[in-house]
Amino acid sequence: DAKSDDESRFRFFEPEMQARAQERRQLVADLRLAVVRNEFELHYQPLVDLAQNRVIAFEALVRWRHPVRGLVPPDAFIRLAEETGLIEPIGKWILFKACADAVGWLPDTKVAVNLSAVQFAKGDLAATVAAALEGAGLTPGRLELEITESLLLDEDDATLAMLRRLHDYGVSISMDDFGIGYSSLSYISKYPFDKVKIDRSFIAAGEGKSGAAIIRAIVELCRSLGIPTTAEGIETRRQLEQVVSLGCSEGQGYFFAPPRPLADIPPMLGGPQWPHHSAVH
Ligand code: C2E
Ligand code: MG
Ligand code: MG
Ligand code: MG
Repeated sequence: DAKSDDESRFRFFEPEMQARAQERRQLVADLRLAVVRNEFELHYQPLVDLAQNRVIAFEALVRWRHPVRGLVPPDAFIRLAEETGLIEPIGKWILFKACADAVGWLPDTKVAVNLSAVQFAKGDLAATVAAALEGAGLTPGRLELEITESLLLDEDDATLAMLRRLHDYGVSISMDDFGIGYSSLSYISKYPFDKVKIDRSFIAAGEGKSGAAIIRAIVELCRSLGIPTTAEGIETRRQLEQVVSLGCSEGQGYFFAPPRPLADIPPMLGGPQWPHHSAVH
């Protein structure tokens, strides 16, 4: 009968749930240790100006060098870091490290740093950003902060004020992964965005009609507001040619280069020999 069915299902799932809870506790304990032991590293992926075929920035992408699990990607620990508050020290470290690394690059090469919504809610983000820039000796114009639509969902006045403050200070604000969230297009004009990054799902779908239509709509809206667009996740020459023809101003993706450790990027810091692919123009 239904009752014993439920009971057997419960008995079946309970050990699995316990195992998952135990794994989560272990991961949180490991994450706390990782902060103390400084087990994080930043990899960098180039953002390419499509008109000039030139690297204009690198996006910092965090990884966790776990002593047993190896290199852990951000999708596997950022949310946990947000839920436990550990994103505060981790996010601070990321900002300071990215600014310090960028000092060694060509003078006009920017660094893009992803921010979690939690970093807006707690502590003084503007003070942290200023300290990271001043500590490194980097001008605010060389830092781009990437935020996602989820930050804007509750239309918080404090968020808008903080974005304006950072923007007025001279830091660029980029809307990341645009198009997949629930925010309305009007957010693009309401907030002080210097750049809109079109989510890679539309670039991947772009070879069909619907992806292209969405990319075109975003590009045209942004162009009317004077905001440049970046196509994320370009993997093939066809995709590159398509986003160029649709009017995207910047591109990023495995076609150009995957994220790499800092030590692996010096030879290609915007020099004429990089990217290796010849211009599409
Ligand atoms: P994101 O900011 O949208 O970063 C782009 C992600 O797409 C990166 O994944 C990158 O490796 C991947 N990617 C780049 N080009 C391609 C491509 O051509 N094809 C495909 N399939 N993927 C590509 P990653 O490094 O695993 O980061 C995932 C997400 O984790 C990031 O998405 C960002 O939301 C978050 N994240 C990464 N670093 C940080 C950080 O320092 N702080 C915070 N708060 N979040 C971060
Ligand atoms: Mg990003
Ligand atoms: Mg993105
Ligand atoms: Mg993303």
